[in-house]
Amino acid sequence: MRISDRLDARVEFLRPWQDDAACSREDTALFFPPDAERKGPRFRREARAKAVCRRCPVISECLAHALRVEEPSGIWGALTEEERTQLLSHPAAQRESLWA
Ligand code: SF4
Repeated sequence: MRISDRLDARVEFLRPWQDDAACSREDTALFFPPDAERKGPRFRREARAKAVCRRCPVISECLAHALRVEEPSGIWGALTEEERTQLLSHPAAQRESLWA
C-alpha cells in the first residue's frame, strides 16, 4: 500500500494536498516502520523518507495534519512519531530544532 492510499483511507477531506505529495510514488514501507526494526536500519530508512519529505511541496500541510490528528506512527512532514510527540509537548522550545 502506498502512503497516498493510506492517507485516502484515513482522511478523505485531505485529498487536495495529497495529490501533490512527493511520496505518492514511494513504497509506504519507507515511511512506516516494520515490526522489530533495528536501530541502524531504522535510522537509514527514516533519513531516506525525510529526504523525500524535504522536497515535498505539501510538507506543511502534511505535518499540520499529523499534528492535528496525532498520527501515532510513521514519518509525516519529515518528522518521526517521537519528534512529533516532542513538538506537541514543547511547541515553543522544540519547533525550530526539529526542522534543522
Ligand atoms: S511531507 Fe512526506 S509524508 Fe507528507 S506528503 Fe510529503 S512526502 Fe509524503
